[in-house]
Amino acid sequence: MRRFAAEREEMVQVIRERGVADERVLTALRKVERHLFLPEHFAGRAYDDTSLPIGEGQTISQPYTVAFMTEALRVKSGDKVLEIGTGSGYQAAVLAAMGVWVFTIERNLELLAGARRILERLRYRVASHGGDGTVGWTAHAPYQGIIVTAAAPDVPQPLMDQLADGGRLVIPVGGRDVQSIVVVERRGEEYIRTEAPGFKFVPLIGKMGWSGN
Ligand code: SAM
Repeated sequence: MRRFAAEREEMVQVIRERGVADERVLTALRKVERHLFLPEHFAGRAYDDTSLPIGEGQTISQPYTVAFMTEALRVKSGDKVLEIGTGSGYQAAVLAAMGVWVFTIERNLELLAGARRILERLRYRVASHGGDGTVGWTAHAPYQGIIVTAAAPDVPQPLMDQLADGGRLVIPVGGRDVQSIVVVERRGEEYIRTEAPGFKFVPLIGKMGWSGN
C-alpha cells in the first residue's frame, strides 16, 4: 500500500471542486507521490493545497496551480514538453505520468541534483539540464507545450520561437508580488494570448527574466 493514498484522493477532490476537469491531469495527480518530492519534515503536509518550501529559498507550487497549468497545456501522451524551473521535480513527474516527454531546466544546481535523484528513483523518464531556461532548449525544439513555473516580467521571445505550430506556452507574467497565468497558443506565425489573474510565484531569473542571483 502506498503511503498517503487517502490524502492524495482528497487533494484531487479539492482540485476537481476548484474547476479542473481533465481526467488525465487528475489521474496523474492521484499517481504521483508529492510527499517524496518534499523535505521529510513536510511529508505530513504534502497533500494540503498549498505551496511549501523545498530549500534554496524556492517552493514546490500549490497542487491546484500545478493542475491548472497542466490542464492549460492541453498536451497528450507522446507530446514533447519543456518545463522551466524543475524545482523539486514534482511538475515534471506529473507530466511524465501523463506519458509526455519532459525536458526540464533548473538554474539552481542543488535543486536540480535533488530532483534528478527522486525522478530516477521513481523511474520517471525526464531529461534535465542546469542553466538559464529563459532562452529555452533549442536542441529538442519545437515543443507541443512549454510550462514556466516561475514568474516573468514578460513572455520570453525564445520560448515563443520554440513552440510547435498548435502548441501552447503557459507562464506566470506580472509584477514581483502578483501575476496572471498567461497562455499563448501558436497558430503558424500568429500567437493567441489569454490570461487568468491572481497567482503568486517566485521570480524567473535570467537573460529574458528578472535580474538577480
Ligand atoms: N516546478 C517546480 C516543482 O514542481 O517543484 C516548482 C518550481 S519553483 C516554483 C520555481 C523554480 O524556478 C525554482 O526552483 C527556481 O530556481 C527556478 N528558476 C528561476 N529562474 C529560472 C531560470 N531562468 N531557469 C531555470 N530555472 C529557473
